[in-house]
Amino acid sequence: MAQDLSSTEKWQCPTCQLIWMVALTFSEKNQRCCPYCKTEGKNFSQALHILRKMSWLREIYGDARRAVALLDVVDWREQIVVWLCPRCRQAYAASLLQRLQGKSCQFCQNQSQQD
Ligand SMILES: [Zn+2]
Ligand SMILES: [Zn+2]
Repeated sequence: MAQDLSSTEKWQCPTCQLIWMVALTFSEKNQRCCPYCKTEGKNFSQALHILRKMSWLREIYGDARRAVALLDVVDWREQIVVWLCPRCRQAYAASLLQRLQGKSCQFCQNQSQQD
């Protein structure tokens, strides 16, 4: 793991034990809010509303409105969604939870590993 994650840090939720690699603001760290616990029992549009107010999820790529409509009726935590990488513009698949846990575009990840 030679990834440069200087802007993010590892944080483990004391409640659900999931580990997140996300940039947290100071106040969020103190509140110990976890995107998994915070969105428990919520449908996708409710979860999005919560996550957008937190710094966990800064952007949703692709057709967000269609994604919300679809993910409202499926298990959005498990559902694999296609994301568009803002850097290389390649599409890649990941669930929203995987994204929140630090999964990003594998093309850019592979490139930085080859350097
Ligand atoms: Zn949690
Ligand atoms: Zn990329």
